[in-house]
Amino acid sequence: MSALAAALRARIAADGPLRLDHWMAACNAHYYATRDPFGTAGDFVTAPEISQMFGELIGAWIVDLWVRAGSPPCRLVELGPGRGTLMTDALRVAQRVPGFDAVPVDFVETSPALRAAQATRVPGAVWHAAFDDVPDDRPLIVIANEFFDALPVRHARLAPLPSREGLGEEQFVATDFAPVWLSSDTVRTGEWSDAGETVAAAIGTRLRNQGGAALIIDYGYAGESPGDTVQAMRGHATADPFRDPGENDVTAHVDFTALAQSAGVAAHGPVPQGVWLARLGIEARTAALKARATPTQAAGIEAALVRLTAPQQMGTLFKAMALTAPGWPVPAGFAA
Ligand code: SAH
Repeated sequence: MSALAAALRARIAADGPLRLDHWMAACNAHYYATRDPFGTAGDFVTAPEISQMFGELIGAWIVDLWVRAGSPPCRLVELGPGRGTLMTDALRVAQRVPGFDAVPVDFVETSPALRAAQATRVPGAVWHAAFDDVPDDRPLIVIANEFFDALPVRHARLAPLPSREGLGEEQFVATDFAPVWLSSDTVRTGEWSDAGETVAAAIGTRLRNQGGAALIIDYGYAGESPGDTVQAMRGHATADPFRDPGENDVTAHVDFTALAQSAGVAAHGPVPQGVWLARLGIEARTAALKARATPTQAAGIEAALVRLTAPQQMGTLFKAMALTAPGWPVPAGFAA
């Protein structure tokens, strides 16, 4: 048994079953702190690791917004930057615009392993353990790709009839890591993320006070919850989220409506990722890259386009949503 499994077992024995979000937080803190999970040798692949086009288009999105906002002094903030690939590709494009090289980069990252990977690619960045630690001195342009799905969720429901009519129960993790429903006084039902809503509310407060915008890209839904979406990935295959704590990537789909409501500022989208990337010009970018590529490289570039945008791949399940401060322009890709 791993040290984390032993520690969780002892904690449950001493304090009783662990609420689902506390379980997920402990698993993910260990998981990200101890590895680089990306790529073919890892557990999963994210959009910036599929193709440089993803980060480049986000770089163009950032400077377009910044210039239309009047090129104010601001900070570029990324939540959960992974290997730093998205930011590297984005800065390569954004810094072609005069003045943007003066914009400082702030990374919010808890994993020491991933901070080290980010430092090799974006050496000038400043790291923070939490979004609240980002300085409050100027407008923020916040980027979060596949960050919110890693934040822990809770599950609650009305207790089944006839035993406890009207009473709520919530999912916990008990001895031997078995999920169990226990009575709870929560008034919510379904799946939600306190942690995600807290970060979204903090982003909203900062945007209102400091100005700026946020771009949130993730797999998820707007409107009605699809139910239990907790899933685990290991070695590119699904795994059991209640086994081998800290060794699988445990995630949940993102509730974009809840994030927008928590932020309390203007929200744009969510728009399906395939539609959003098409509006940003991914097809022209694909053609430009293919024009100076070998036939083998060109096939890889075309495959990346399909993977990022095709409805049955990442084009529909993944969505982009923007939040903007009062007075900031509507960002690219969100006006139909
Ligand atoms: N954006 C990257 C990585 C996504 S994986 C990409 O697209 O490739 C999730 C990222 O969020 C990792 O960098 C992970 O270490 C970080 N992370 C997860 N939970 C976090 C938390 N509570 N606070 C800060 N960073 C967190």
